[in-house]
Amino acid sequence: MKLEIDQQRLNSEIETLAAISDAEPPAVTRIVFTPTDLKARAWVISLCKEAGLAVCQDAFGNIFARWNGSDSAAPAVGTGSHIDAIPNAGKYDGVVGVLGGLEAIRALHRSGFRPRHSIELLIFATEEPTRFGIGCLGSRLLSGTLSAEAAAKLKDRDGETVDEVRRKAGFNGNLQDVKLPKGYYRGFVELHIEQGPLLERARISLGIVKSIAAPASLRISIEGAGGHAGGVLMPDRKDALCAAAELILAIEDAARSSGALDTVATVGVCDVFPGAVNSIPSRVRITLDIRDTDLTRRDGAMQTIEAASQKIEAKRQVSIQSEVLNADAPADCAPEVRAALSDSCREHGFPFLEMVSRAYHDSLFLSRIAPTGMLFIPCRNGYSHRPDEYATPEDIARGALVLAEALAKLAGSSQ
Ligand SMILES: [Zn+2]
Repeated sequence: MKLEIDQQRLNSEIETLAAISDAEPPAVTRIVFTPTDLKARAWVISLCKEAGLAVCQDAFGNIFARWNGSDSAAPAVGTGSHIDAIPNAGKYDGVVGVLGGLEAIRALHRSGFRPRHSIELLIFATEEPTRFGIGCLGSRLLSGTLSAEAAAKLKDRDGETVDEVRRKAGFNGNLQDVKLPKGYYRGFVELHIEQGPLLERARISLGIVKSIAAPASLRISIEGAGGHAGGVLMPDRKDALCAAAELILAIEDAARSSGALDTVATVGVCDVFPGAVNSIPSRVRITLDIRDTDLTRRDGAMQTIEAASQKIEAKRQVSIQSEVLNADAPADCAPEVRAALSDSCREHGFPFLEMVSRAYHDSLFLSRIAPTGMLFIPCRNGYSHRPDEYATPEDIARGALVLAEALAKLAGSSQ
């Protein structure tokens, strides 16, 4: 089987999709279910149809484009990613996995390969949390990680529910039906830009992901006592911001001392009430994002933070409440998918790095229902989610080639 990726065509398709945007080029803004997103989806669907794939969409707007195998009743092999983009993003996040996945399928087709298991391109709806505050909604529903009832009630900033928004976009089916039946995929591979600097630093063009880190996010409220900045003397204070400051450092320390570099914790929001120069802060709200590749270690760090929080409460006589917004478990990638990717790299003599995905992706949720793997390509300076995000056409094409071969290995030949 001699595979050739049409690098020029793939690159020009990436440029065309980038132009379907609500931001001035080179920035890309494509919020899910906006007219712009619907236009982009329609264009990608037309490409899939042109490639001879059978296209259908579920009640949430996940798009399936299938190349039927000779054993069409057998579980399929899937690949894909997302085309929604956060405000002021770049051209490559998600898109490389969608258009690269499509080109991988076209290349297999051109080579004369005929799969035994069907090969399916899956374009996930709502990977980015921009609109509904939670990421990977499409894959959470597909995997049953989030129930249809819970998803339907989520609201966007304008107060419109997921259910209202998706119906307006033309998706009227039953959300309960989005969950994929067990054994639907025999393997799933997502091609993606690394969104970090390691491949570029190592001057290696391919990364095979061994595990996907997952975050827990918490909202923490600290209640102290307010008062006049001149009138209340230091021994009498219950300053909520000073307590928050101690807690933030305890959070940093818990991540640093977990025993592994994979533990990372971030406090990215700090709201101070009442927020006046001459008023003692009475209430502070912070957020915590804590990630790891190992659930036990992440839970351990969270317990350390909880213990610190109790100490600070007692010492400073404040009350600290935390609410878990979301706690996804990390995932290990499937050995058979990793092997399909690494075999292809070895056959070509392409060096690759085995690595951890520090961002999380739809693949994290797909891994709950199917053997899943990810293939990374470098992005310049590790930049992502910004207009100067960049991956070279050569790296994208190499990724698509290795993806195509892995899909072929997983799908088997009908001959
Ligand atoms: Zn992405």
